[in-house]
Amino acid sequence: MTNVTIDAVESRNPATGEVVFTAPATAPDDVGATVGRAHAAREAWARRPILDRQTVLRRFADLVERDAPRLADLIVTEMGKLRRDAVAEVSWTVKSARWYADHPPPVERRGAAVVRRRPLGVVAAITPWNVPLLTPAWKWLPALLAGNTVVWKPSELSSGTAVAAHELLREAGLPPGAMELVLGGPDPARVLCADPRVASVHFTGSTAAGRAISESLAGRFIPCALEMGGLNPALVFPDADLEHAADCIIAAGTAINGQKCTATRRVLVHEAVAETLMDALATRVHGLTAGDPARPDVDLGPLVHPAAAAHAEQAVAAAVSRGARVVARSSAPSGAAVAPEAFFSATLLTDLPPEEPLRRHELFAPVLSVETFPSAVAAWPMADATPFGLSASVHTADPATAAEAAEVLRTGVVAVNRRGDDVDLEAPFVGTKDSGNGHPEGGEYIYSSLTALQAHYQDVPVPSR
Ligand code: NAD
Repeated sequence: MTNVTIDAVESRNPATGEVVFTAPATAPDDVGATVGRAHAAREAWARRPILDRQTVLRRFADLVERDAPRLADLIVTEMGKLRRDAVAEVSWTVKSARWYADHPPPVERRGAAVVRRRPLGVVAAITPWNVPLLTPAWKWLPALLAGNTVVWKPSELSSGTAVAAHELLREAGLPPGAMELVLGGPDPARVLCADPRVASVHFTGSTAAGRAISESLAGRFIPCALEMGGLNPALVFPDADLEHAADCIIAAGTAINGQKCTATRRVLVHEAVAETLMDALATRVHGLTAGDPARPDVDLGPLVHPAAAAHAEQAVAAAVSRGARVVARSSAPSGAAVAPEAFFSATLLTDLPPEEPLRRHELFAPVLSVETFPSAVAAWPMADATPFGLSASVHTADPATAAEAAEVLRTGVVAVNRRGDDVDLEAPFVGTKDSGNGHPEGGEYIYSSLTALQAHYQDVPVPSR
């Protein structure tokens, strides 16, 4: 991503190169005024009855449902997601808004106290382009419901989806100032994080950007929730259903065209079944159809940008020059309306040398590498041998191996005999090591970084909310 101030945000359909959205960027000098509007609105929003805030979320859900086809088209054309995945993202946003409307921050009695969760004030949400509606919604739906106001800085590559979502929130009855948008690249985001009126920062994106945000907040005692990158293993044991394992691995490795934080990147397979699994994976890679992501028969769309595809090609070529071997690549995109520059073939590699950067650095593209292990004892440390700890999948018929996986793997998600990239709205979503700093998203868990706990002792009756 760019490191220089930009005057305008511009989204191009990566499948065709066409410009699909432009808007002026927020000048860094204007970020303060934007935060000021959210700051001024916070008392009134926090004091609105919880029922009002729930009603806004429910109306928002209805409006997203009404506009689902338009929103899905926007997501497809802005960042190249398959249309069926964009439809699912929109539908999950509707479900999430309704779920949060039913699950405000809990009020509990503990000992002699009533434990309340009070809003913090202005929450900064800084988000990526790969899940441009649902990932931000998982931050601002609970933030708003809890009585915070929000300043949202979406990715410069998916600003059109952000503007559309913001308009629907306003149509749903969200008052002016309760949610403000900052458009642009990292520069206005940095200014946003530095604003002393910001009471909590919620970031999803690369580990490098998350680290920069964390460093910039050093010495300020505000919650900072960082959801970052992953280099996620799939472990395949000899007793596994290998066909099912291969289905899960390829689906999770190519989801969002390989641009998903929880995508499977590393396949660790017991040497007794390595050849069989490799053949099953190769067959599936060769069977992938690349092309216009709006087409229902397409499995693999473009990467978000031609530069991302060029970067992935270079990384694979460099790995091969260092000794890695290409086992399979999917075919080039088909179809007349497609500009090939942003397309990158799904790639299955093996024989990565020990110092290969792909073992340690996240490549945001559909590249999977295969390694073998001789025993479970050897497999667990291999799975852990990256700087990341987001998600892992394990394929086995043995309940003891499944239980051991949960015990020893240091990832926020452990998925047994299922895709490693699927997460549930109600469960905590939180990475370890360079994948996250321990502040979860998901369900009610996110309230820990969106609210301040207050133990309320009093000798007269307390209202329940
Ligand atoms: P990115 O880090 O480049 O950008 C994410 C957001 O941060 C954007 O809005 C960007 O403008 C802003 N930003 C960038 N540098 C910044 C800085 N120094 N200070 C403040 N803001 C800054 O990431 P991306 O390319 O948009 O998204 C891909 C990355 O996101 C991958 O690493 C992926 O693994 C990660 N991701 C993680 C999760 C998760 O939940 N763990 C989910 C989706 C994506």
